[in-house]
Amino acid sequence: MLAESLLGTITAGLFGLCVGSFLNVVIYRLPKMMEREWRTQCAEIQGEATSTAESFNLAQPRSRCPNCGHRITALENIPLISYLLILKGKCSACKTPISARYPLIEALTAALSAFAIWHFGLNMQGAGALLLLWALIALTFIDLDTQLLPDSITLPLVWLGLAFNLHNTFTDLHTAVIGAMAGYLALWSVFWLFKLATGKEGMGYGDFKLLAALGAWLGWQMLPAIILLSSIVGAAVGITLIVVARHGRNVPIPFGPYLAAAGLITLFWGKTLTQSYLGLIY
Ligand SMILES: [Zn+2]
Repeated sequence: MLAESLLGTITAGLFGLCVGSFLNVVIYRLPKMMEREWRTQCAEIQGEATSTAESFNLAQPRSRCPNCGHRITALENIPLISYLLILKGKCSACKTPISARYPLIEALTAALSAFAIWHFGLNMQGAGALLLLWALIALTFIDLDTQLLPDSITLPLVWLGLAFNLHNTFTDLHTAVIGAMAGYLALWSVFWLFKLATGKEGMGYGDFKLLAALGAWLGWQMLPAIILLSSIVGAAVGITLIVVARHGRNVPIPFGPYLAAAGLITLFWGKTLTQSYLGLIY
């Protein structure tokens, strides 16, 4: 039994390394793809001829060094190993340093994937947990970079959560549907109350969709824990940034990463958490 789950965990970790490598591509390219699409749409509305530029998607063109245009070879594309042993953190052609974030995202994805299979096992729960955590990693870093949570990830994540719970994978369908609705409406209400009171927009519609997705995956009972956890971590990081880094008070801090982190914690320990705080109340 132990040998079997150990093998599953190691396999998930190695698979997670490759997925992490793909997530790096998604995080870098998806916002650029969205921007190109918006530009094309604007040009079309204004009646301008749209230039048929070279295709740019998750598969094409092949990855290049942004500094010298050197095409990344297969040997330079092995997750983690290439960065650490072959490239040693630099482009092989021009020696420009490559951001350590790429191997870190690969390592993070590998570690979380391994932990998910260790925690849930090789079953529907394990498979669902992998898909959810991969999406959350991509959303976190896209939001940090661009303050966007793309619909092309958040909306499928809502439906996927409901689909997994058709057969009670994480919770029953009834709880999941209410979770999706309540998740969206909770932040939607906060957004409008805050906007009516202060005239400012505190968060974006992407945050509502992300919380809807977490509600669909984990059920409405987990929403208070998710909101509480993300607010605590968000406030702590926000205050630290303002005090230590003299981060301007009006510079927006994305909320998506905190929601994603709270969602992950709740995925693994939500039942224990809610039981202990419900125990405090009753
Ligand atoms: Zn280069």
